[in-house]
Amino acid sequence: MGDRWHVEVDRSVCIGSAQCVHRANGAFRLDSAMQSHPVEPDTDANERILEAAENCPVEAIVITLLGSGEPVFPPEE
Ligand code: SF4
Repeated sequence: MGDRWHVEVDRSVCIGSAQCVHRANGAFRLDSAMQSHPVEPDTDANERILEAAENCPVEAIVITLLGSGEPVFPPEE
């Protein structure tokens, strides 16, 4: 792919289900408040991170293209 992504977790939405932690091995971790954080907010495009975003039960994970800010997930309507 070659794209670079910026990954954020909306902590007002995250329910700490830890699915992203298991699905995207090592790309997210939970803090002591059971809130998910991307380990590397700026990262190479990565299928596992996209899968984690797609499968987050509350759509708390937002991915944009680094630089342009174009939405990757959720996709633009
Ligand atoms: S899958 Fe979604 S709700 Fe669950 S910990 Fe990750 S970001 Fe939070």
